Amino acid sequence: MTIVHDGVDKWACFHCPGGCGETIKLSLSKNQRPRWTAMSDWLRRPTISPSVRQTNECRCHFWIRQGRIDWCKDSPRR
Ligand SMILES: [Zn+2]
Repeated sequence: MTIVHDGVDKWACFHCPGGCGETIKLSLSKNQRPRWTAMSDWLRRPTISPSVRQTNECRCHFWIRQGRIDWCKDSPRR
């Protein structure tokens, strides 16, 4: 996962774990809607909240917790 700074805006960028190959870009800026919160633990493993839902044909829905993908029950992937 990469944190991108674009002026005052911050984004978390990573490839969709569902396999569609899309780059997911989550806004971390306080003045953006929707926005996400990214934290890393002491091993620099990211935790993102709330969960991420892809609206493309992939439709995956997951959490990122301590660098791991936790699939939601309504995700077609798991
Ligand atoms: Zn996908």
